[in-house]
Amino acid sequence: MRSFLMTVMLGWVAGAGQGVAAAESAALPSKTLWIRVAVVRNQPQVDLAIHGRFRLVASNTADVVREGSHLPRVAVRAVPEGILVGEERFALSGLRVEPTRDATINLNGQQLRGIVEIVRQKDVSLLVINHVALEDYLQGVLSKEAPSYWPAEALRALAIAARTYALFQRLSKASVDYDVTSDVLSQVYAGKTGEKWRTNRIVQETSGFILLYQGQAFPAFYHSTCGGLTEDAQVMGSFDLAPLKGSRMCPYCHESPFYRWQRRVTAADLAWAVKQQRGTSIWPVTDLEIAGRTPSGRVAQVRLRGSKVLVLSGYEFRQLLGFSTIRSTAFSVTPEGEAFLLRGQGWGHGVGLCQWGAAELARRGLRAREILSFYYPQADVVRWGDVPLRVIPRQGVP
Ligand SMILES: [Zn+2]
Repeated sequence: MRSFLMTVMLGWVAGAGQGVAAAESAALPSKTLWIRVAVVRNQPQVDLAIHGRFRLVASNTADVVREGSHLPRVAVRAVPEGILVGEERFALSGLRVEPTRDATINLNGQQLRGIVEIVRQKDVSLLVINHVALEDYLQGVLSKEAPSYWPAEALRALAIAARTYALFQRLSKASVDYDVTSDVLSQVYAGKTGEKWRTNRIVQETSGFILLYQGQAFPAFYHSTCGGLTEDAQVMGSFDLAPLKGSRMCPYCHESPFYRWQRRVTAADLAWAVKQQRGTSIWPVTDLEIAGRTPSGRVAQVRLRGSKVLVLSGYEFRQLLGFSTIRSTAFSVTPEGEAFLLRGQGWGHGVGLCQWGAAELARRGLRAREILSFYYPQADVVRWGDVPLRVIPRQGVP
């Protein structure tokens, strides 16, 4: 169940440190739009198999360096001189795996559509990018982001939000190596292996439909469970726009197992996590306090008191203890002896569409468009065609 509940986390965290991409008005090509998904990052090795005919192409020159009718499972490794595919060494920093139309790429046990690019990075680790058609990408996302048996109108709304989010990432980050990651930092993606018949049909039915605000695509964040009230995207960064303002009263997600949650965290847990992740000792921990809240009541900052005082943002605090341990920043803290009891609401950042809320609204008869206009006020659902499409600028994103 847990994998169904993964959410679009802080979408731009994946791109942190990569600069502000400048594509404020990138033109959308009329032919198939491809998206670059980082499916493996910073690994020394991956397993690769190809069922059917394929070509290996040098990324820098487009020269075909090998062709074959089948590649049995081999280890692909980064080495100082280039890339090893099984025993064969290629003195290249990038290799594209291009299957013929009826062939299938299998990477680390996962079937992927499109083509795969293997990049040896400067630190001799591998970055693997799946170049995949946007609609195929969405088929690999939707079944992982929501249970395929959910009401169709909720899945349609989610497909449109996910497409908009992907398009925003694709058009606003044109200058970096990839557009999205395959994990909760962007949208969970499991390639062809993750696809389900029903969610594929929903993606196809909504093909091309996206959300625009004043003619611009925006990061249509969504999350598992808001816990009662949606959040303003501004608390996560710099998106100050009407559809992401939050403040939607949403009791509709009460069926979610995470509508309310509790977690007991000991002083030792906190000190250990700080030591592991920040390399500093704050033992003995004497207090955990909420140091500030967002206008909607989520935790903006916590203060950890011990041999040192550490102030963390709500996001950093979730990161410290794990995003599935501290499911949201909507929580209170009650000291209990050597521990602290956290009572929380919802799972995820609370911005944009609440998935469990959308499912309930669909059960009550709302259509996808109505669900979307509830969670993204003032956004229009449109079908994009051959017109140039603009995305909102990434003002102030670090
Ligand atoms: Zn909700």
